[in-house]
Amino acid sequence: MENCSICSTKLKFSNTPNFNSGRLIDGSVICRSCYKQVSSRNPQIALDLKSRSKEEILQFIGDNKPIVISQKQKVQVFAFLTVAILFLWIFISNLGEKSLDEKYTKRSALLDSRQFVLQELKTPSTAEFSFEHENSVRKINDTIFFVYGYVDSENSFGAKLRASYTCTITYLNSIDKIQCDNLIIK
Ligand SMILES: [Zn+2]
Repeated sequence: MENCSICSTKLKFSNTPNFNSGRLIDGSVICRSCYKQVSSRNPQIALDLKSRSKEEILQFIGDNKPIVISQKQKVQVFAFLTVAILFLWIFISNLGEKSLDEKYTKRSALLDSRQFVLQELKTPSTAEFSFEHENSVRKINDTIFFVYGYVDSENSFGAKLRASYTCTITYLNSIDKIQCDNLIIK
């Protein structure tokens, strides 16, 4: 099947002017919609297309040439927009929310546990936590951590003593607070 030589619409039986009346001098054919445009401006020309060239007709209907978007193009545009919106949505929703894994780590639990230990010491200002790495934290699940460690601090006589401690640190995600349970210092 040919396409309309003016607007490139695929020519079917339903949109092709009858009796070859859409045929131009070069033998190409225009669709019924283009034919109507010509006809509405000048029926004489429309009746005598076979002596007109494509360029003449184009010039004649010139600016009013319809922009035709095929069904296939519509589907493509729709699919593209859908995918673009989906990506945008994923991008935006990822901006604000770190996964809990990154947000609260073993290291966070270790550092937070020290604040609770300090509260229990007689002389917190003298406290020195020994070097502890993340291996001294056991992750129970995403929000619960078992911590053990050592702290040196002065007793009431000014002597520095080492104590070990254990506790369970729970990260309360919904209110962004830390809870310390079963703190034992000895
Ligand atoms: Zn056409």
